[in-house]
Amino acid sequence: MKVRAYAARSAESPLAPWEVERRNPGDTDVRIRIEHCGICHSDIHFARNEWQFTTYPCVPGHEIVGRVAEVGRRVSRYKAGDLVGVGCFVDSCRTCGSCRDGLENYCESGPRMTYGSFEADGTTPTYGGYATEIVVDERFVLRIPEGLDPVAAAPLLCAGITTYSPLRHVGVTAGTRVAVMGLGGLGHMGVKLAASFGAEVTVLSHSASKKADALRLGAHEFVQTSSADALVALAGRFDVILDTVSAPHDMNGPLGCLRRDGTLILVGAPPEPMAIAGFPLIFGRRRIVGSLVGGLPETQEMLDHCARHGIVSDIERIAPEQINEAYDRAVRGDVKFRFVIDCTKF
Ligand SMILES: [Zn+2]
Ligand SMILES: [Zn+2]
Repeated sequence: MKVRAYAARSAESPLAPWEVERRNPGDTDVRIRIEHCGICHSDIHFARNEWQFTTYPCVPGHEIVGRVAEVGRRVSRYKAGDLVGVGCFVDSCRTCGSCRDGLENYCESGPRMTYGSFEADGTTPTYGGYATEIVVDERFVLRIPEGLDPVAAAPLLCAGITTYSPLRHVGVTAGTRVAVMGLGGLGHMGVKLAASFGAEVTVLSHSASKKADALRLGAHEFVQTSSADALVALAGRFDVILDTVSAPHDMNGPLGCLRRDGTLILVGAPPEPMAIAGFPLIFGRRRIVGSLVGGLPETQEMLDHCARHGIVSDIERIAPEQINEAYDRAVRGDVKFRFVIDCTKF
């Protein structure tokens, strides 16, 4: 079954219309008519081969929201018309320890990513959500709760769970002092989610121009950190720092802002290795942890939490022909805070 899509044909070429082949739905598959797909920074890295493992053509997109069009005969969780989502992965081995723990994102064989990976047959490339339809096993489909704006909910499938999962994992709760570094797609979700857990949220940014947005999104405080003195003044202040900065940056100054046993969560992925000094870790027994999206049960929990708290992404909706311009603007940080493609217009 051929469906319309947008694809990159090489690292240099802009994304352009293409047709992608979707499998016929099997017994446990759901065929989804895609309505909205967010543009994640990973899409841009991938389409432009900035991580150097892209194969072409490449159809990005892993913040997918749509309606169920058809279900296989053994599908029990969904029926035609349901509003559903698909995030960063569409399958996993289902049998390893991580999969059994509902942490398919950490599948020991590697989760089958929504794009740039292979289907369960090991040979058919996966193509993502910049398309009119996708076919996914029901086990890897999420329910979008009623009451969430489906357009603005799309980025929850990556940016939302990427920040929700580690904040929960390190125990952020009422009164936890959380700093968020970087106020982009990830950072703005981190602020909203941490605030919804009752945390005391501070945004750290080089740019004073982010202050009004930070406070509007729910931060209690904003600190401009362009001078080294600004970080020194925050020494020992935070329980948790959520570092969403995707460009190379100094981590040692921020580490010093953690209290004893504090944790810096790394979710931005600068392409270059970063220099970590030993002393800020050793003095204060501080930790750095990484985190990759979340498993299926936790992703559903996050969506339900967002519905209860009225949390969605701040978005700018675009037509498919604006994708390339949106990529350039996203790289410049010129978006508040996520682009979402209208996939009914492909
Ligand atoms: Zn993403
Ligand atoms: Zn597994």
